[in-house]
Amino acid sequence: MSDNTDYKNTLNLPQSSFPMKAELPKKEPLLLKAWQENGLHSLLRRSSQERQKYILHDGPPYANGDIHIGHALNKTLKDIIVKYKTMRGFDSAYVPGWDCHGLPIEHALFKELKIHKSQISQVEFRKKAYKYAMGFVDRQREQFKRLGIFGDWENPYLTLTPDYEASILESFLKLLEEGYIYDDLKPVNWCFKCETALAEAEVEYEDHVSPSVFVKFKLEENKLFPGEAFLLVWTTTPWTLIANVAVAVHPELTYSYVKTGKGNLIIASVLLPAVMAQAGIDKYEVMKEMKGCLLEGLIYAHPLILRKARVVLADYVSKDEGTGLVHTAPGHGNEDYLTGLKYKLEIIMPVDNRGNFDKSAGEFSGMNVYDANKPILEKLASIGALLFDFRIQHSYPHCWRCKTPIIFRATKQWFLNLDHQDLRRKLIAAIEKDVTWVPASGEARIKAMVELRPHWCLSRQRYWGVPIPSLVCKKCGKEFFSREVVRSFTEYVKKEGTDCWFTRQIQDFISGDSVECPVCKAKEFSKGVDILDVWFDSGVSHQAVLKKRKELKFPADLYLEGSDQHRGWFQSSLIPSVCIEGKAPFKTVLTHGFVVDGVGRKMSKSMGNVISPQDIIKDYGADILRLWVSSSDYNEDIRISKEILTRLSEAYRKIRNTAKFILSNLYDFHPDKNKVGEESFRKIDRWILARLIKMVEDAGDSYEKFQFHKAYKVIYDFCNEDLSMYYLDMVKGRLYTYAADSAQRRAAQSVLYEVLNALVRITAPLLVFTADEIWQNMPRRDFEKSISSVHLLSWPSLGKLLSPEVASAESQLKEIIALIPEAAKLLEEMRSKGLIGSSFDAKIKLLTNNEERYKFLSSLKSDLCEVFKVSQVEICREGQADIAVTASKAEGVKCVRCWNYSSGVGSAKEHPLICVNCFKAIGGKS
Ligand SMILES: [Zn+2]
Ligand SMILES: [Zn+2]
Ligand SMILES: [Zn+2]
Repeated sequence: MSDNTDYKNTLNLPQSSFPMKAELPKKEPLLLKAWQENGLHSLLRRSSQERQKYILHDGPPYANGDIHIGHALNKTLKDIIVKYKTMRGFDSAYVPGWDCHGLPIEHALFKELKIHKSQISQVEFRKKAYKYAMGFVDRQREQFKRLGIFGDWENPYLTLTPDYEASILESFLKLLEEGYIYDDLKPVNWCFKCETALAEAEVEYEDHVSPSVFVKFKLEENKLFPGEAFLLVWTTTPWTLIANVAVAVHPELTYSYVKTGKGNLIIASVLLPAVMAQAGIDKYEVMKEMKGCLLEGLIYAHPLILRKARVVLADYVSKDEGTGLVHTAPGHGNEDYLTGLKYKLEIIMPVDNRGNFDKSAGEFSGMNVYDANKPILEKLASIGALLFDFRIQHSYPHCWRCKTPIIFRATKQWFLNLDHQDLRRKLIAAIEKDVTWVPASGEARIKAMVELRPHWCLSRQRYWGVPIPSLVCKKCGKEFFSREVVRSFTEYVKKEGTDCWFTRQIQDFISGDSVECPVCKAKEFSKGVDILDVWFDSGVSHQAVLKKRKELKFPADLYLEGSDQHRGWFQSSLIPSVCIEGKAPFKTVLTHGFVVDGVGRKMSKSMGNVISPQDIIKDYGADILRLWVSSSDYNEDIRISKEILTRLSEAYRKIRNTAKFILSNLYDFHPDKNKVGEESFRKIDRWILARLIKMVEDAGDSYEKFQFHKAYKVIYDFCNEDLSMYYLDMVKGRLYTYAADSAQRRAAQSVLYEVLNALVRITAPLLVFTADEIWQNMPRRDFEKSISSVHLLSWPSLGKLLSPEVASAESQLKEIIALIPEAAKLLEEMRSKGLIGSSFDAKIKLLTNNEERYKFLSSLKSDLCEVFKVSQVEICREGQADIAVTASKAEGVKCVRCWNYSSGVGSAKEHPLICVNCFKAIGGKS
């Protein structure tokens, strides 16, 4: 051998078929296919049996479109937890679900069909809705699977299957039997031309001209306002005055008692000048002023002498328009209705389906409400109650279909009574005692909502969903429940689904003449037409799924949804659970924020800033999407943009390349045959093992606390710093130039194997595809040969590696590792002066006058060359106690094989260009 090139063949250069380029969009589908073919999910399920359960219960998305980035975030977070818990030895079955009923689907389908409710029969529409929902279940299922999410995808829970629908009805019956269900009036958007209630989504706002009227309501005698006093009330819907039962004032607003030529008026002080000007009153005198809260409870006479009514307080009273006194008719408006609930006001509803006044409206009966405006104003004027009026143009809700201005009209609805059997207090107790809220602020949030929420309105006037099986007396119109009918309907539903409510005759649900009207005792009925609120469907999933499926359990360990579900699913699940089970359905509730664009704006089509998971998967791969989820602090709103994804791709490459480097240096390593004992380890090997053990512990802690961004960070930092910056760089020489089977090289390989074996496992819940790809390329112990996927492995147990020497290595080397940047700086200076090329051209001196340090450094001598990547390290007993570093050119001659300088180069005659170590390494080879 005469020159260095010939020694290349004697080096143990890295080799691996693990590609540097990830090509995730191409490779991930192949892995998915392999998992499918190997039956990975059933293998996982089988190996988990008999273990302690950890159940994350899935909140069902609506089956009405492709998944968006929010779905991807939510399902990935769930999957990380399920995979982590499985690795930790739990039986963690994940049963995904879909919400298949409800307005979102009904609305989307009507839009697609381009028809209205009146143009299709309910049964026909329901058939289409079923197909529509199932179509999107299939679509979303494939999209979720593509994200690498494991679950019982072939057997999910769907709220439209007969067994699920029967569970809904069984839960409803339990609530009915316990007395939680009652009916009452509630105002809804109503089109009297179409004769139907309208959902918010079916209402369009258009300009409309309305009367603007200022009416005097005469107060009864009282001490506050001596003499004849009037509340001055403003409204743009005079016809609703018929149903007036209260006047609302703002508790904090100041009101004036004003003497005018048209009577003594009470009016908000800030609005007084404007109203007086409009009314043409230039002479008036403020007699006194007081806070609105003092007016509460004053009694007045309805201007048309229909009833006595009173003053109530409400925060929504405007100080910008009107008079500061709001006419209140709970049958005709939502705010009025809520005030009515608070003050137990009567809901007067004198308007029928077609928008006409009924008999209770006296002289106005039979008139359409809009036609009645004029005669009502005339009447008010004739009795001196009308101060003045004019006409205004404003934005007003119209029916989306017939374009008629709608009215608010109280209709009968079914409610769940939150105050029955002390339910509200029990809910609060369950929130406080049964549940851990993550983040902790969730507790106060949901508690405040439950304290304030009105009773749960369970009925909807819809086509698609579970029918509320009430009976309507044909004789007196009473609507009521017969438990017998609910039960027999439920039995039919188990076989036929809920469509049977519409396709079967009512007699099918009643045996003989066993049911009679509770009011008039008549025995002829029609079927109720209301649909159960879709939130009830998903709200009883603990009954339909957790309690019914043997792989699950009640209560669940975890519910995990967006923080908007404090208002939604967490509440709709908690309420029936506390009613039926007496406790919460979840032990822990975890919430996440929402996805926004790179600068924090909400994503919307019109802004053009929507990023879909499908696009990310196509351009970057699902693992990059998962890395984005893992690396995000989801307590806040989470940003996503091309720049963020590009940055994450770089982080991904760092982790991937770390794995690739390790794999390519294990090509000739068999963990059963080539692993060496700790006695062969150098200090730096022990150091990296100590770092590994700590990193795995930290990552485990972070997973336990659901802080995946911290788990990701410790993993990333370990790859980027401990491995790439230090250890891997240091051991290259040992791996490449020592004899392949030497104890020193095998020591480095043994350590690398332990590192990768742990890294691949703790990364698996985050990077599901890449971790498995690494595992496929790893040397394995014989008993692991048959393990087809990383996801079948358990969490690494590194306790056996933690010897006293390993435990102390980190603190021992800390000081030396900290010197590396300083040494590198010295070498860089030499390099820039042209004194050295590679760091092996240099020698380092470590100086200390501290005896203990001197002894320790001396004991490490040969290791130190590896740590600093230089040819020589000299330890000097001089200088300060703290270690100082100096650098100079290495002594001796450079070995062409390992680049180290020594005096021994050329001592072997037949190999004049290499050092003693290298000569040993190639011993017998050449
Ligand atoms: Zn209409
Ligand atoms: Zn009756
Ligand atoms: Zn050498």
